[in-house]
Amino acid sequence: MPAPAPQPSVRVVTLTIDGRDLSARADETIIQVARENRIPIPSLCYLEGLSIWGGCRLCMVELAGSNRLVAACSTQVAEGMVISTCTPKLHRYRRTIVELLFAERNHVCSVCVSNGHCELQNLAQKCGVDHVKVPYRSAAYQVDSSHETFRLDHNRCVLCTRCVRVCDEIEGAHTWDVMGRGTDCLVITDLNRPWGESDTCTSCGKCVQVCPTGALVKQGTSVGEMTKDLHFLPYLSRRRHLS
Ligand code: SF4
Ligand code: SF4
Repeated sequence: MPAPAPQPSVRVVTLTIDGRDLSARADETIIQVARENRIPIPSLCYLEGLSIWGGCRLCMVELAGSNRLVAACSTQVAEGMVISTCTPKLHRYRRTIVELLFAERNHVCSVCVSNGHCELQNLAQKCGVDHVKVPYRSAAYQVDSSHETFRLDHNRCVLCTRCVRVCDEIEGAHTWDVMGRGTDCLVITDLNRPWGESDTCTSCGKCVQVCPTGALVKQGTSVGEMTKDLHFLPYLSRRRHLS
């Protein structure tokens, strides 16, 4: 009987997060290790199973010996790292990001179908955002209701690109893209045609399920009714890596 092929060895490192001594695989990121150990680090764009985008900056953490914050989603762990995830400085930083997100578009929770099931709303509550200190942009964006099952409301979009990545990386349709620059960026379908006229959309609904806010929802839901289910993602992303 042939000898079994040698398994590639995985290097293990030791590090400290919020005073806890932990060990981890050297190829893991800070946010992965933190979540495995039930240490909460907020994020909007990061989602286990999708590629790293690193755009929302909510997962920034303090690293001892570094004079700048690092993104926990895109920074690999290293031997001896000492990381802090919940200092007053980080709390102020995250609160400002959430306030800017609220000021950038029109997130009116009381009339949103995702009210009570929204990751942005949850973050605002955790960060203690009871008012916004910067002026609202008050830009009015269109709602695309052309799809027979789903609806896109740009006013509630936080440009996390989860929809773009899940549609491309898991469903393989690549219906979504991002158009424009800065605060005027918009997610678009099929080179900016109405979603209902898309040739590539399979109507699988994955983009709707991963959307953290009420930007992508099912048609016909009313205030507070829209819940999202992310359970499919770990299973499908593991299958993608194995195939
Ligand atoms: S419903 Fe599925 S195929 Fe259509 S845009 Fe969303 S993820 Fe892509
Ligand atoms: S539509 Fe939803 S998932 Fe897509 S970028 Fe906007 S907030 Fe993120």
